[in-house]
Amino acid sequence: MQVQRTLGAAARFAGVGLHTGADARVCVEPQPAGAGRSFVLAGGDVTFPAHAEFVVDTKRATVVGTRDATVSTVEHLLSALAGLGVDNARIVCDGPEIPILDGSAAEFARAFVRAGLVTQGATRDVLTVARPFVFTDGDAMLVVAPSDAFRVRFAVDFAPPVGAQFIDTALDGNDYFAEIAAARTFGYLHEVEALRAAGLARGGSLENALVFAPEGPMTPLRWHNEVVRHKVLDLIGDFALLGAWPALDIVSVKSGHRLHARATAALRASAFAGDGATIAPQTARVGSARAETRAAR
Ligand SMILES: [Zn+2]
Repeated sequence: MQVQRTLGAAARFAGVGLHTGADARVCVEPQPAGAGRSFVLAGGDVTFPAHAEFVVDTKRATVVGTRDATVSTVEHLLSALAGLGVDNARIVCDGPEIPILDGSAAEFARAFVRAGLVTQGATRDVLTVARPFVFTDGDAMLVVAPSDAFRVRFAVDFAPPVGAQFIDTALDGNDYFAEIAAARTFGYLHEVEALRAAGLARGGSLENALVFAPEGPMTPLRWHNEVVRHKVLDLIGDFALLGAWPALDIVSVKSGHRLHARATAALRASAFAGDGATIAPQTARVGSARAETRAAR
């Protein structure tokens, strides 16, 4: 049985936003069992659950919100919460973006562990599927298959010098912290220069992204396959918008925020329609995620 968790205390973060370059602050607060994860924007005037229905843009990051207010780049913070199994938390945002920090989820994850991962007396909601779902977008594909544990196999094939990378990972809290959380956002030097010229990626620097020049990475890699690890980090954050623990076997080829948003919205809709997906408190044994994370080295 999986039980719900929240934080032992509030965790605060401040820094620059990657895309806007604006100062951003966010406070993640504990919540009671059953509350779920939610966003609070505009000084408390705008509140909504962290669910796929509230995704409003996926071009460069996952943006959530309502007609009245939005917040960008939520995927790394949500990834740390979901990856560490924090079901109940209020994400109070001050600014149009979540701070990028070092481009990974490491600082979020460390602070959440420091604040305490507190077990609550309620069973966790789990999303399961009774049949495979396949989502495609150009040459990207996402397969969501029945499973009793959250497993992600991810393949990318980027232009040189990144190339093809693959990872096969079974996710529980410990694996997330050690294997996924510190993988950084990445980009190519020529793209960064073009984005800057267009007034985008204003907060970007070598301190908050893994940048590849034609001859290789401009800062040391944290893993040889750090890029695909970051893609898994993003997927976990985007799938947090299911609003339930994904007991899913996911196979991704080159998927990104847009396909993730389509998949999570469709899976939630299927669950509400009783059409091949279910969101329910899981009472069966599902905490058996493989202990080891197997990375293709
Ligand atoms: Zn990312």
